[in-house]
Amino acid sequence: MSTTIAFLGLGAIGAPMARHLPARGFDLVVWNRTAQRAEEFARTVRARVAPTPADAARDAAVIITCLPTSLEVEALLDGYDGLLAGVRRGATLVDCTSGDPATSRRIAARLRERGVDFVDAPVSGGKRGAEDGTLTVMCGGDTAVVDRVRPVLSAFGKIIVHCGDVGAGDMVKAVNQALLAIHIWATGEGLATLAKSGVDTRVALEVINASSGRSNTSMNLFPERVLSRAFPRTFRLALLDKDLRIAAQIARDAGVASPLTQLASELFRAARIELGEDADHVEAVRVIERTSGVEIGA
Ligand code: NDP
Repeated sequence: MSTTIAFLGLGAIGAPMARHLPARGFDLVVWNRTAQRAEEFARTVRARVAPTPADAARDAAVIITCLPTSLEVEALLDGYDGLLAGVRRGATLVDCTSGDPATSRRIAARLRERGVDFVDAPVSGGKRGAEDGTLTVMCGGDTAVVDRVRPVLSAFGKIIVHCGDVGAGDMVKAVNQALLAIHIWATGEGLATLAKSGVDTRVALEVINASSGRSNTSMNLFPERVLSRAFPRTFRLALLDKDLRIAAQIARDAGVASPLTQLASELFRAARIELGEDADHVEAVRVIERTSGVEIGA
């Protein structure tokens, strides 16, 4: 009999991740808050649609969640149709949300009382990495538990790293996201300056991408999304703002002076307010363009 995996949260990244599981021989059960999305998913993927989180968890050895924040995952535990009402003793909850370590530890403690293991396992690599099954997965939890769920994670992950105890995956992810945000803002400021000073930004990027200032942001995000003016919506700015809040909080908790992270958090919070909940993270550049009165790549 094959192992049953429950996947809860078929959003921009969750859906392409879950899609790989049946091909790896797992029985897949899905649940999504908006049921229509789960039904659409199951039209093209061999999966059973569960009516509630409790029902999704009932036969599952591994339950994967991928929701906006840890708080939504925590809220899914309770209620007559919540995860705790259905989950089996000996099962593992793998939370692929880019979460916060304090909430993850709280969730892990509540699950432990029920004989259920927990791993925080945020991912990196974007929608494309999810579609290709090449995500990086950063795990926090007991070594034995992480090793047990590795075959499941490898359905959508290429690099699966055990970062430490519960919460360690969330913390590594938050720092990665702070770096991403800082790269976006710094590249935007630099290119806006060059554009306003009469330098062709395509030429400038060619130079930067062959020089020491290059990054994934300058090499991929700016050519594909900003200079092209495509700005595809793959990862919401609202979620990057959430990631920055986590990064800023863990730096403060650790007593590390972190002016860049704190400022990036303020800048992206303001960008989210200006651009709204549906804007993509790279669209933060539009704020720089507006305030500097120049379009990068125009
Ligand atoms: P989306 O906004 O596209 O999807 C969010 C998902 O969570 C949807 O399935 C939504 O259901 C569900 N949801 C929202 N609120 C609730 C709630 N209160 N209760 C239950 N379900 C809820 O987000 P993403 O898929 O982009 O992101 C998910 C996580 O993955 C986030 O933590 C994000 O930071 C992280 N991530 C995203 C990446 C990306 O490229 N998009 C890359 C790496 C990490 P519904 O359909 O009903 O709205």
